[in-house]
Amino acid sequence: MRHFHDGETITVEPWRARSFPVLRDLVTDRSAFDRIIQAGGFVSVNTDGTQDGNTLPVGKVDADRAMDAAACIACGACVAACKNASAMLFVSAKVSHLAQLPQGQVERERRALNMVRQMDQEGFGNCTVTGSCEAVCPKEISLDFIAKMNREYGAAILKNQDTVGTID
Ligand code: SF4
Repeated sequence: MRHFHDGETITVEPWRARSFPVLRDLVTDRSAFDRIIQAGGFVSVNTDGTQDGNTLPVGKVDADRAMDAAACIACGACVAACKNASAMLFVSAKVSHLAQLPQGQVERERRALNMVRQMDQEGFGNCTVTGSCEAVCPKEISLDFIAKMNREYGAAILKNQDTVGTID
């Protein structure tokens, strides 16, 4: 996006994806991302006295991976760049961020199942590993997170075979 030479033609267009309907000019509706987050991109807590932050130590490797995933700003560039309009880089960053932390363990399986289900319902395409999402991501979210999400989803499917499709 930032590499061009003087005199080159630059095409400016809105994000192209069926799940991001154009509202006007370059403005698109990305609320599909919000609904995916609402489906599981959170940690539920009973609020009361604030817990001491040091009661849940997180190893450096896990903390670094979680922070790498948390860098996603939900811009949607990955979807727009993908020939399949896949949202898997975005969803995998959100699933991986919480799966990497102790606070995210309780809802880990439910989160993976519900977020992937919502992603599918929103009409995003499947990943065929072309890597265009990773190439345009302003936060350098790695394709490795898609592999992690697939593992998370597969494990959740196996452990919840009787309830898949009904988990909320
Ligand atoms: S391009 Fe990167 S930062 Fe933007 S939504 Fe996709 S994964 Fe997140």
